[in-house]
Amino acid sequence: MTAVLIDGKAVAARVRATLKDEVAAFTAATGIQPGLATVLVGGDPASEVYVASKRKSSVAVGLADLHQHLPEDATQQQVEELLHRLAADPAVSGILLQLPVPAHLDAAPLIELIPFEKDVDGLTTMSVGLLAQNKPGLRPCTPSGVIELLDAYDVPIEGANVVVIGRSELVGRPVAQLLVNRNATVTITHSRTKDLAAVCRTADIIVAAVGVKGLVTADFVKSGAAVIDVGIHRGPEGLSGDVDFAPAAEVAGFITPVPGGVGPMTIAMLLGNTLRAAQLQHSLASASASASASA
Ligand code: NAP
Repeated sequence: MTAVLIDGKAVAARVRATLKDEVAAFTAATGIQPGLATVLVGGDPASEVYVASKRKSSVAVGLADLHQHLPEDATQQQVEELLHRLAADPAVSGILLQLPVPAHLDAAPLIELIPFEKDVDGLTTMSVGLLAQNKPGLRPCTPSGVIELLDAYDVPIEGANVVVIGRSELVGRPVAQLLVNRNATVTITHSRTKDLAAVCRTADIIVAAVGVKGLVTADFVKSGAAVIDVGIHRGPEGLSGDVDFAPAAEVAGFITPVPGGVGPMTIAMLLGNTLRAAQLQHSLASASASASASA
């Protein structure tokens, strides 16, 4: 392998260690312990594992675990009531509605009930708009993790030609937006893109968020390019990604493995968003208090 291996586990551990200090400093300065309310509806086994991991990681950096669990047969109205309550609760800094919700529920209007300053997943229309306008706000976790990995390995973003494969709301679109905001020249590709390999060969950075195992072969990769693999596929031989790793690593300059690349970054960025959410709410509350004092 000639590429430098981007070690997401190590970067995520560094991010979490820094955050632990930042959370302690924020709590000491304000008396506020930031709290994350994960909301799980039902008992989907994969979601239970993800939520348990988010809760454990939150506590490890000093955040309060404000987890909420509703039964599988919870109604839309019950979930709405819970989200309204969490939105109004000053102890709750961040709200994360674990997706997917059971099939009888409509996730989109539920997500919109999360106020932008508590939207630690960065998925509400308001957060998407703030990102599109490059205004301060909470950014989606996996895309932020991609940027953090590139920065951790000093891969230049400004002026780079980037090809993002995938245009989902969860990954492709926001990662493209974050890269544009960092002055990259970004091409977004998808299932209708013609000659994807040729488009990818123009890239200094490829971000693969496709959900097709091994789609990105060595033939897609320009010599020395950075290849970030967001894909996750479970198979009999374990986890793998959207990139055909071993051959691509012979051509790339930098590459993320699966597992151990982008995956560990997602939770680390969620924890960071929860602290940022608490900071944002604190500054909004201070601004409103000083406005009413001077009125
Ligand atoms: P998604 O919603 O299914 O979107 C996939 C995108 O890829 C779509 O835009 C689709 O194009 C495009 N696409 C599909 N087949 C293609 C092809 N043959 N050539 C070019 N483009 C193609 O998936 P997602 O939610 O973005 O997730 C993508 C992958 O990332 C999945 O493997 C998922 O498990 C993984 N993931 C990982 C993390 C993490 O923490 N590491 C987080 C989220 C997701 P159209 O728009 O034209 O249909």
